[in-house]
Amino acid sequence: MSHIVTVTPGEKHPAVTFECTADSEALCHLYRDSEDSWYEDQVPETRHERCWIATWFDDPEACSYIGDDADDDGDYYVPPNVERSGEVSVLWCEDYIEWSFA
Ligand SMILES: [Zn+2]
Repeated sequence: MSHIVTVTPGEKHPAVTFECTADSEALCHLYRDSEDSWYEDQVPETRHERCWIATWFDDPEACSYIGDDADDDGDYYVPPNVERSGEVSVLWCEDYIEWSFA
């Protein structure tokens, strides 16, 4: 239990909030500094205050919801009028991430 997404319906767009409940010792806080260097094994991973997943949720275009009810027209692919909060699983797809409720 460490990655929680909360979706609340909004007037125009759903609000999607990501929260990492792991502490900064967790593996998800260990990553390379720049996205450009994520491919480069020589670049050392360093510890960060923020979970790597949180950085992707800063940009709605970069995190696609892939649950069974995903909506191609919706923001984040989240269907309208969804109100849900829970643990998520996340898949890194190089220039975006995919997520769904676990
Ligand atoms: Zn995390």
